[in-house]
Amino acid sequence: MRTGSHSADVAIAGAGLAGVAAAIEALDRGRRVVLIDRDVEEALGGQAKDAFGGLWFAGSPLQRRRGIPDSVELGFSDWLAFGELRAADAWPRAWAQSYVERCVPDVHDWLVSLGIRFMPMPMWVERGLYGPGNSVPRFHLVWGTGRALADRVNARLLGHPRRGLLTLRFGHRVDAFTTRAGRVTGIRGVTEPGGEPFEFESESVVIAAGGINGDIERVRRHWHEDWAEPPRVILNGSHRFADGRLHDAATAAGASVTHLDWQWNYAAGIRHWRPRKPGHGLSLIPPKSALWLNARGERIGPMPLVSGFDTHELVARICREPGGYSWQLLNRRIALKELAVSGAEFNPAIRDGRRLRFARELLFGNRWLYEELTRNSEDIVQAATLSELVERMNALTADDTVGLAAVEDAVSRYDAAIRRGPRFHDDEQLRRIAWLRRWPGDRIRTCAFQTILDRRAGPLMAIREFVISRKSMGGIQTDLQGRVLGDNGRVIEGLYAAGEAAGFGGGGMNGKRGLEGTFLGGCIFSGRITGRNA
Ligand SMILES: Cc1cc2nc3c(=O)[nH]c(=O)nc-3n(C[C@H](O)[C@H](O)[C@H](O)COP(=O)(O)OP(=O)(O)OC[C@H]3O[C@@H](n4cnc5c(N)ncnc54)[C@H](O)[C@@H]3O)c2cc1C
Repeated sequence: MRTGSHSADVAIAGAGLAGVAAAIEALDRGRRVVLIDRDVEEALGGQAKDAFGGLWFAGSPLQRRRGIPDSVELGFSDWLAFGELRAADAWPRAWAQSYVERCVPDVHDWLVSLGIRFMPMPMWVERGLYGPGNSVPRFHLVWGTGRALADRVNARLLGHPRRGLLTLRFGHRVDAFTTRAGRVTGIRGVTEPGGEPFEFESESVVIAAGGINGDIERVRRHWHEDWAEPPRVILNGSHRFADGRLHDAATAAGASVTHLDWQWNYAAGIRHWRPRKPGHGLSLIPPKSALWLNARGERIGPMPLVSGFDTHELVARICREPGGYSWQLLNRRIALKELAVSGAEFNPAIRDGRRLRFARELLFGNRWLYEELTRNSEDIVQAATLSELVERMNALTADDTVGLAAVEDAVSRYDAAIRRGPRFHDDEQLRRIAWLRRWPGDRIRTCAFQTILDRRAGPLMAIREFVISRKSMGGIQTDLQGRVLGDNGRVIEGLYAAGEAAGFGGGGMNGKRGLEGTFLGGCIFSGRITGRNA
């Protein structure tokens, strides 16, 4: 062994949520664990720390309390239909079934035992557009966002009764796996910064290094065929080290890596004004009462775009529009009630547990976020009139692509449809808003048929939105114990994978669409299973 070499029972590459969950389980079983991460110590918990903090459960106690009729059977049938998981996807399907059956006891109840609390009303996202999505609300938002989730899980690790068996290494980049007689026997890599080589010999190795979506070139290479060509600008909404390095190392060790084109990217990204990585983007939760226009200012249609139904389809539609980006047109009143950003950073009221502030924002609008976005974002323009707004939109893109006539036409038709009254709403966006508002969780966040050119609701606002990369739903193929599989289903002895690296289990348990909340949930679920077996 070289200098800098050590040994452990279990070596885990990646200290995100999946790696931490795996480490806890391995410690529970008295194993000596080394948890290695390329990032700094403060980033323990990985992307979960920045996440919004929604988890997917079917048949949870909260759903029962809210009178939501859900079950494992309904959840699984929605899952298969939405993800379009075929019989040939045997391991992804097996993982999906296992997650749906076990997510309440193994994820929900475990988190509750760690002190996690959920917001009182599950949210209803990914309802499905042309086929089933979530038939009922299932997105359980952690009170405290992903920050509280990661902090609690980290605290369990750092305060573990067998803490003495744990070695933590930050600033260590894993590059490869060592093998002997066809079995994986450890990992090696270099320190960052410094470039000092290190090596750990171990009985088992767990890959928990996240997905590929932090490397935009890789995202482009594995672009899904439904999405036509990748757009010129794709923002980065993933981890800066989610670069697929260990997917390559796993492949070199004989692993099967599947479905990398199953990516969960979003349609409404804007540039972060305090970027922490190249192309750093923020994913907006697109206002449902805004008009979604293409680069020319034409309303995208004939089926208008409305978020909350099918994110995969939104990305597909935007990519087919000229320029591969879009605009959302709204006014201040809509922005105050509906505009939101996914993640812990821009939801301080929920993140910091400030209930009064949260209630005030729900009732009177989120003024803090409105100010923050309009003051800082280079992708947002405002004006008192449509013609001025279009001038500013064109100034932003430094051309005359947005046509005033197209924008006026879209706005006047939409506003006129609203003015005819709900009994005569023949616009698909208005029909969907009506349906959304029937669920209290959406009603409180969605305007009641707000016209765009309402003088009392101004100023007008246009947001330029780019596709933003986020989650890898495909990945390293694993069996139900988390063991990495090679060609023909052969087990690669000693090698395990969990979390986003493994497509949350089986190399793609969501299929090509995810019901949302299945990512954090999937990391805990697969991390725990893998840690138990490694
Ligand atoms: C803003 C935002 C909001 C989100 N909201 C939600 C939500 O509400 N619900 C939901 O389900 N999901 C959400 N997600 C997704 C979810 O957070 C991630 O899918 C999940 O946290 C991934 O966890 P992981 O442990 O698999 O990987 P990561 O969190 O990516 O952790 C991987 C770790 O591995 C390390 N690493 C990478 N390469 C190496 C290497 N070569 N050597 C050593 N270490 C390495 C990284 O530094 C990192 O710490 C959100 C994500 C973001 C960014």
